[in-house]
Amino acid sequence: MSHYRLPQIRSLVTAMPGPRSAELAARRARAVAAGVGSSVPVYAADADGGVIVDVDGNSLIDFGSGIAVTSVGASEPGVAAAVAAQAEHFTHTCFMVTPYEGYVAVAEKLAELTPGDHEKKSVLFNSGAEAVENAVKAARLATGRQAVVAFDHAYHGRTNLTMALTAKSMPYKTNFGPFAPEVYRMPMSYPYRDPQGMTGAQAAERAITQIDKQIGSDSVAAIIIEPIQGEGGFIVPAPGFLPALAQWARDKGIVFIADEVQTGFARTGSWFACDHEGVVPDMITMAKGIAGGMPLSAVTGRADLLDKVHPGGLGGTYGGNPVACAAALAAIDVMEKQDLAARARAIADQVVPRLKALAEETGVIGDVRGRGAMLAVELVKKGTDTPDPDLTKAVAAAALAAGVVTLTCGTYGNVFRLLPPLSISDELLDDGLTVLEDSVRTAVAGAAS
Ligand SMILES: *Cc1c(COP(=O)(O)O)cnc(C)c1O
Repeated sequence: MSHYRLPQIRSLVTAMPGPRSAELAARRARAVAAGVGSSVPVYAADADGGVIVDVDGNSLIDFGSGIAVTSVGASEPGVAAAVAAQAEHFTHTCFMVTPYEGYVAVAEKLAELTPGDHEKKSVLFNSGAEAVENAVKAARLATGRQAVVAFDHAYHGRTNLTMALTAKSMPYKTNFGPFAPEVYRMPMSYPYRDPQGMTGAQAAERAITQIDKQIGSDSVAAIIIEPIQGEGGFIVPAPGFLPALAQWARDKGIVFIADEVQTGFARTGSWFACDHEGVVPDMITMAKGIAGGMPLSAVTGRADLLDKVHPGGLGGTYGGNPVACAAALAAIDVMEKQDLAARARAIADQVVPRLKALAEETGVIGDVRGRGAMLAVELVKKGTDTPDPDLTKAVAAAALAAGVVTLTCGTYGNVFRLLPPLSISDELLDDGLTVLEDSVRTAVAGAAS
């Protein structure tokens, strides 16, 4: 972590966005479909450790990691070397045509790292949504049942089935239907907004009763849940919620799928978010942090479930691409050698007290939550729990103007999330937090005037 290629500094040499970014934005407006959004209007030229350097030469602090992807850094030397070395030999043969070792080695590694010591098998894909689709496919085949349970505030992707699993209508679903059938939505444990004092066990019972009454447990193939919800607002369920749900699923022969696409790979301070409560899912979906920025996703699950699928039933032309597999092996090696899970916990130790102090000071932060380097604040109207999405946008804009790239999320658009690369330095993290604190103060003052 000490060998950075780019200076780890925040430095602005133009207004935000600068002239070259503005030029690219004009070209983009003519060529790129309007439906693709971007959080910030600055175009990247380089990135390393905790910084993104834009095309105008501004060095920005990265608090987003490209949505929790570049945990090891955006150009980690081991990953870059592994990618280059593999590309010199072959970029593709298709594992379904001529298999290669990298795919097998990634599957071996996933069996070792994912929760539980049962026999596991893996299948590799390209995107998180594709992993989720295939986990559901396999669960339906293995159980001979069709219903799938997802939760309020869930985000599982943008393909047809994963849109159906995703909770939020705008922008993910509006007018994109019809959606896949046999998807049912249940209440999530959301400590900040649930009735005061509701325990994880009670929240699980609330969901279980509804599943029983509205679907019937015998009809349910799978329960899919993010152990900490991502796009829905970094919602950490009350302790006991996940274990109770997983145990009930096991008792009923329902496949428990943990969608760890965002939470996986050291982000929350352990390899997987399920580890914090000793939950052992039947299947786990992974993507974002897995391969140092290269597109790769995976389903790892109980061998007896996944192996029920007939040969040829799972796959895809690019799934488990050899360059992406080489990157994953290199990225996982960095996470192990540098103990990035411990680094994620240290980031929480540095960030959380300051966010709590900021909540005290400003009165507009209703909740500070998250785990490891997956942290968020929920912004509300002062003295209430009413979401304040406008203030949230104003904070993000102020942070960008000062040189920090941030992301917002949440069903109500009022959650400000922190997903720094785990390779960020303490100094840069400190500077970024100071900007963030000032941005909240500025936005509050702006809203008052
Ligand atoms: C991002 C995300 C997905 C979808 O991944 P893509 O690679 O964008 O398809 C699915 N589940 C969770 C929890 C995610 O955060």
